[in-house]
Amino acid sequence: MTLEVLCGGCGKVLYSGYDLRSPKEVVRASGGKCTGCGKPIIPSDFTLEVLKAEETV
Ligand SMILES: [Zn+2]
Repeated sequence: MTLEVLCGGCGKVLYSGYDLRSPKEVVRASGGKCTGCGKPIIPSDFTLEVLKAEETV
């Protein structure tokens, strides 16, 4: 399983990996704002996508 956390504003992938992380953890890791558009990250704005590894070729 791969977890991707995307910015709700610009769609940039803020976190991608195999470890499940909460939005709050990702916010903390990225300094509280999107590294793509610089917009402050609000955890409720996150789009979470969990992809099965078998489906990502
Ligand atoms: Zn962004």
